[in-house]
Amino acid sequence: MKPLHAAVVGGGPSGLYFAYLLKKSSPASRVTVVEQNESYRGFIGRMHRNKNQLVYHGDDAIMVDSTGYGGAISRLSLLTMLRGLCDDAGVELHFATRMQRIPDADLVVGADGVNSVVRTAEGSDFGVRAEKLTNWFAWYGTRARFDTPALNFRKHQGGHFVAHYYPYSDDMGTFVAECDARTWSRLGLGAMADAERQRLMETIFADALKGERLISNKSIWRNFVAAGTERWYSGNRVLLGDALNSAHFSIGSGTRIAMEDSIALWEALEASEAVPQALERFERERRPTKQKLLKAARASYLWYEAFADKMQAMAPLDFVYDFMTRTGRMDDARLREQHPQFMRRYEACSTLPSKS
Ligand SMILES: Cc1cc2nc3c(=O)[nH]c(=O)nc-3n(C[C@H](O)[C@H](O)[C@H](O)COP(=O)(O)OP(=O)(O)OC[C@H]3O[C@@H](n4cnc5c(N)ncnc54)[C@H](O)[C@@H]3O)c2cc1C
Repeated sequence: MKPLHAAVVGGGPSGLYFAYLLKKSSPASRVTVVEQNESYRGFIGRMHRNKNQLVYHGDDAIMVDSTGYGGAISRLSLLTMLRGLCDDAGVELHFATRMQRIPDADLVVGADGVNSVVRTAEGSDFGVRAEKLTNWFAWYGTRARFDTPALNFRKHQGGHFVAHYYPYSDDMGTFVAECDARTWSRLGLGAMADAERQRLMETIFADALKGERLISNKSIWRNFVAAGTERWYSGNRVLLGDALNSAHFSIGSGTRIAMEDSIALWEALEASEAVPQALERFERERRPTKQKLLKAARASYLWYEAFADKMQAMAPLDFVYDFMTRTGRMDDARLREQHPQFMRRYEACSTLPSKS
């Protein structure tokens, strides 16, 4: 591919990573990134590796062991690292700059997240599809120390709640709280102020938080919108990451999927003579893999939409097994291999038919 001018809208993981890859492999290209937020403060982060996960069904805590490792890195750490790479490679970064109109460039990359403006801008023809979920959620930080990441399903005053929490640095954790639509209306959460809802979560999950408060970071309760597009590119405009498809947070891989999009687009540019062929190649080669991930993400969010009924209907071990197999990508053989202790315990007393 000849040197080109690529204008990236959005300085999240997908935008920065793509910009870095392109500029590093094609130094004569002009690569610009506009990001509406201000520059990230210096912050050294590191990966927090977690082996096991606790799943609570009310007061029953079930440990799901794992033969592999999971891990988390703070978003700020990741973005700071990517920004450093972009600076070193010579990418032009413009912070505190919200895109007002589609830039004039050979290639316009919409890496601007779930509410992408590139996706809906005048002249874009991506064929947007959106599905609004009925569960409500909010995303907080906390100074509570979590030794093990956990999924905590709780009943409270006839309502059903779940919190997903995990450490992302030595002294900070992420805490995502969620409830179903019936709970939202029955307990009057819609009429509460954000601070009241936050206090309610601190009450329901007091044991897990060990006396620490939740920290709001524009933590607005909302419904997740699973958005996607029929086409991945429109003229010289292409979408990446969450702008292309919003993967539900319950599969915990949105950032990885977004960055794999960046790699796929960069590889398609490397392998093509011109931008139109590259965009066609990007969609053709990346779509089948991404489709599988999105199918799994959909199965996962539909499971969460029904978690209250499942909590009522199932004993704790059956409930956890049902959760582990929710995406259809995990059968008993894989569970035995990857979560041997949990499966031994489950198979000794399960009442559900096996998924072999
Ligand atoms: C509650 C919750 C929990 C999650 N937990 C996880 C998790 O544990 N692990 C995981 O991997 N993923 C998680 N995700 C998903 C993850 O955050 C996203 O999948 C990932 O950030 C996608 O990267 P992106 O670069 O495509 O988009 P984003 O990270 O959304 O970046 C888009 C960027 O574009 C900028 N922007 C938007 N509009 C404009 C504009 N007009 N002009 C200029 N800039 C603009 C935004 O400011 C933003 O910086 C979670 C998401 C949510 C909502």
